[in-house]
Amino acid sequence: MTQPLFSSTSLSSALLDNLASLGYHTMTDIQAQTLPLILAGKDVIGQGKTGSGKTAAFSLGLLHNLNVKRFRVQALVVCPTRELADQVAVEIRKLARAVHNIKVLALCGGAPMGPQIGSLEHGAHIIVGTPGRIEEHLRKGRLSLDEVNTFVLDEADRMLEMGFEESLQCIIDHCPTARQNLLFSATYPPKIEQLAQHIMKDAAKVTVEATH
Ligand code: ADP
Ligand code: MG
Repeated sequence: MTQPLFSSTSLSSALLDNLASLGYHTMTDIQAQTLPLILAGKDVIGQGKTGSGKTAAFSLGLLHNLNVKRFRVQALVVCPTRELADQVAVEIRKLARAVHNIKVLALCGGAPMGPQIGSLEHGAHIIVGTPGRIEEHLRKGRLSLDEVNTFVLDEADRMLEMGFEESLQCIIDHCPTARQNLLFSATYPPKIEQLAQHIMKDAAKVTVEATH
């Protein structure tokens, strides 16, 4: 089956040119099925196995919603581990290369506090991090999520397995209620369904089982 092109979506020409320069021309199945919904502003639940291209799907969505001129945290991506958060931050920076001066800040547990506090004082457009550390910065009043328009839970199943429910609830309580929610997960157990129902209304659910 021929895969659809990124250029068939409503992504900006700057993002499309950058995708082409990265060698991203055709969308993977999960991207083809979720990106148009994401770009239309819908809440989306995307289920697909590792390597299916979930990161670019939500990252292009949050970059599409971003106002670079406004130097406030507008997108938050929560990941289960430091390694995953670092990988996502790298991918977002790569995809954002076309758009100048986007600041992506990683806030992960296990990393020293001092530099994170300094970076938070300087500000960021996008935060990627792990639940416990984000919660800690919120509780200390170092991070405001008042202007978040895109909220992403990546590998949501693993976050619940790791017992991050309370931290996630704290983070959600700090986000504006009018926001786009994107939840990505390799599996979809009942606990994830409950979480999705709790945070989203009328979400579109996409499941991709193929290797694409
Ligand atoms: P997942 O989060 O679903 O496990 P990733 O988002 O990490 O998967 O993607 C796996 C790999 O595929 C990454 O190296 C990424 O750069 C690459 N990739 C994603 N989408 C595309 C695409 N449309 N074209 C080419 N490579 C892609
Ligand atoms: Mg992933």
